[in-house]
Amino acid sequence: MSSTPVAEKANILLVDDTPNNLRLLTSILKGEKYDVRRAINGMTALMGVKASKPDLILLDINMPDMTGYEVCEALKQDVSTAEIPIIFISALDEAIDKVKAFQVGGVDYITKPFEVTEVLVRIETQLALRSTQLQLQRMNQSLELRVQERTEVLEEEMARRREVQNQLFHLANHDVLTGLPNRVWLMKQVEQCIAEAQSNHVSQSQESALLDDGGGGAIDVRASQANIDSPHDPHNSPASQPELSFAVLLLSCNRFKLINDSFGHDVGDQLLLAIAQRFEQVCLAHGCLLTRWSGEEFAILMESVYSVPEVTMLVNALRQAMLAPLIFEQHEVIIGISAGIALGHAQYEQPEHVLRDADTALFQVQATHRDIYQIFHAKMREQAVLSLQLESDLRRALAEHQLSLNYQPIVLLGSEQIIGFEALVRWNHPERGWISPAEFIPVAEATGLIIPLGMWVLREACFQLKRWQRCFPLNISVNLSTKQFAQSDLIETIDQILSASGVDGRFLKLEITESAVMDNAEHATQILAALKARQIQLAIDDFGTGYSSLGYLHRFPVDTLKMDRSFVQWLDEGDGSELASSSNLEIIKATVNIAHALGMNVVAEGIETNQQQQLLTALGCEFGQGYWFSRPLTTEQVETMLASVSEERLLCLS
Ligand code: C2E
Ligand code: MG
Ligand code: MG
Repeated sequence: MSSTPVAEKANILLVDDTPNNLRLLTSILKGEKYDVRRAINGMTALMGVKASKPDLILLDINMPDMTGYEVCEALKQDVSTAEIPIIFISALDEAIDKVKAFQVGGVDYITKPFEVTEVLVRIETQLALRSTQLQLQRMNQSLELRVQERTEVLEEEMARRREVQNQLFHLANHDVLTGLPNRVWLMKQVEQCIAEAQSNHVSQSQESALLDDGGGGAIDVRASQANIDSPHDPHNSPASQPELSFAVLLLSCNRFKLINDSFGHDVGDQLLLAIAQRFEQVCLAHGCLLTRWSGEEFAILMESVYSVPEVTMLVNALRQAMLAPLIFEQHEVIIGISAGIALGHAQYEQPEHVLRDADTALFQVQATHRDIYQIFHAKMREQAVLSLQLESDLRRALAEHQLSLNYQPIVLLGSEQIIGFEALVRWNHPERGWISPAEFIPVAEATGLIIPLGMWVLREACFQLKRWQRCFPLNISVNLSTKQFAQSDLIETIDQILSASGVDGRFLKLEITESAVMDNAEHATQILAALKARQIQLAIDDFGTGYSSLGYLHRFPVDTLKMDRSFVQWLDEGDGSELASSSNLEIIKATVNIAHALGMNVVAEGIETNQQQQLLTALGCEFGQGYWFSRPLTTEQVETMLASVSEERLLCLS
């Protein structure tokens, strides 16, 4: 393809075996300012074209050796010369030759003898056509180039957008801190699991319908309804349970807020990362998906589960993984976990429902502190609704002063002298009447309401004590929940209450459970030291129901061990065999002795009989509390009692 601009000074090749013709045409064309080259035969013409491409060829047809047609065909076969316009020129004037001239690729045909003007017009026309053609080609070329450039830019842009989209997708589906998939991703996966469970269920139903048809049976609507109503009731027979297909575990790190409060959020974040890594290893080994749910909560999806033990095995593996302490900035913590489990099946319709059920189960674990995991069952939902109701009622109770305190005397066992009282909260619900603390304290703990509630109790008890102390040398025991104990501003609040009420710290005894100190020894050491600095007494409540580790308690400045009612009940006549009774006696005796050896005194809780009092006295237990001496009393009852008892029945130990 020639790129010579044709319009300016076109280059024309004349091919003719007649020298006269060549001369004549040359002089005509040169006169018109064309560049002219000449060839006397076909071969010379082809060589000339190869050496330098003309803009147009005037080609004689009748030549010896090689005809003009043959020259034309040879040029058309070569891509580099195929587009040069060729005008045939010949004396022959027969239709058949003209047709052939066009067939072999000529663009025009001039017959000899020719008119000069006709030759020039035909040449100009072909050159103009050629020029336009070249222009078009150039435009096409530049257009192609621009399209190509634009395509490249677009492709780059698209690749960039794809990358941004991928990043956005990642961000939308992953947690920034841990890099784990987040709740959005989890929900999508759970949705798929539900769809799969449903399609499996449909195909299984169809199969069994076919089988049933054979046996003449109908689908049992009531049975399938029962499954919906009570999908995980453990009391249901296995046959009526919907087929287990997947499971979701909601995991919470116990007392994580305490770490955030004590060490700051940066340390909290580091710790979360370390926890996530431990969980991730377990999940990898069990082939399940770990996601960050929120704050200190993680969610695990087991995509194909066939039996409950598979799920509980996973929980145990997670618990095992958390047994070794996590070490950060010279601190060591053991993070306990609680898990709420929802077993997935075809009756679930929305992923939100699965997570709601897992959350309900987790709430149960946290409220009761009994187990590390719970599997959701339908009754829990009712309990959760009741708890919610109780929570809102309790909020109102705090605001509307529906709470009051009862005081139960604590006595010296040998002489029955009163040394003080334990303050016990009471709630007179406007519709339900008196509600037991055993019912509402767990709800208050689970919802955090225990903080304002507990502080109200402490304040109320201290002010009451101060009033009584005007006449009687008493001290008071106040229960402090694990949640309160974990509050970072606990000491500050106690200081405020002591100073406002004017109570001296040595007349106040705080009752905490073993788990409050065992679960976070480092924090407990600091708090207990601060309490000791204020001469506040410390008691371990309900000893015997938790870890029951006297050796471990020795590390803390505890004054009193409150032996749980269950120990005391062992001492009842007719409770178990002789042998059992004697071994129980041994256990109680050993506990009392070790407590004494560790510098603690012992209060036996829940004494209901004279025999219990006698045995406990004989075993060296110095103090007691229970219905045998007095039930918890209202303020007025205490005052009546105090007014009637003789001075000797009151003993001031402080
Ligand atoms: P606790 O601290 O171990 O309190 C002793 C419980 O045993 C009280 O139950 C008391 O009424 C009961 N009790 C005392 N003597 C006997 C007896 O001889 N026989 C029997 N069967 N029971 C006896 P209450 O008042 O229902 O409190 C139950 C639990 O609720 C308390 O156990 C304590 O853990 C919690 N609680 C009560 N008040 C408060 C409070 O103000 N703050 C906190 N955090 N917890 C509280
Ligand atoms: Mg108590
Ligand atoms: Mg107790």
